[in-house]
Amino acid sequence: MKISASFIRAIIIIILLIIVISDFFYIKYLEKKMDNITILTSEADSMVAVNPSSFKEPIVVFTADFIDNFYHYSSPFKDGMDFNELIKTYIRNRWSDHYGCGRGTRERKRIHEGIDLFVPENTPVYPLTNFGIVTEVSDNSHYLVQVQYEKPGGIIDSMKIEYGKTIRILYPEGIESIYTHLNEVFVELNQAVDRNTVVGLTGLTGNIRNSGKPSHLHLELRDSENRSFDPRNRLRFEQNSAANFIKHINIGDE
Ligand SMILES: [Zn+2]
Repeated sequence: MKISASFIRAIIIIILLIIVISDFFYIKYLEKKMDNITILTSEADSMVAVNPSSFKEPIVVFTADFIDNFYHYSSPFKDGMDFNELIKTYIRNRWSDHYGCGRGTRERKRIHEGIDLFVPENTPVYPLTNFGIVTEVSDNSHYLVQVQYEKPGGIIDSMKIEYGKTIRILYPEGIESIYTHLNEVFVELNQAVDRNTVVGLTGLTGNIRNSGKPSHLHLELRDSENRSFDPRNRLRFEQNSAANFIKHINIGDE
């Protein structure tokens, strides 16, 4: 049987038309889906939220660029150290206090919920990543923070301890850092901060005045459930904690 060249040409044209038409509808379908997607990306040092139109279902996509720029943790000081380097330096430093060290009394046993970084008094302090939101701040030298402790018999209760001037910053991963014993705070609640924002100065406020310890930055990391964890455990991504971050940034209105 002989198939004519024009017949083959006609078949090819039909196949191409089917591809073009189905692509057109597929693109329309994707565009509809895009209506509910917010894309977080970065331009130079800034965070950009691409929000095609309505924001009915909060689907948020982080571009690889965004993750590189905003998930990278570095030192709270302008010393150029990356976060893991800072932790290693701290481990070698015999003057530093580790996470998990015993604190309190036999009646009120608690742990040291952060690490102590010994730097000269009034050292400028910066956020740990390139974008954060101030979620708690106090300019009160006697500011009290609620912490958990264990009573004899293993009963867990909470008490307030004097952290002094304090700043808490939430990062895109949903993790928060807490800086305490500061001499000065320069930020306000809900303020967006980046790597170049001097948020405060290290100092001697709070309960360290009676401890005999020299000035240091007490750095704490907390997850989305407000549980402190050892900063030596590499900062990790938790999906629902990122959602917690999204709640705090104003992207797209309905
Ligand atoms: Zn401490």
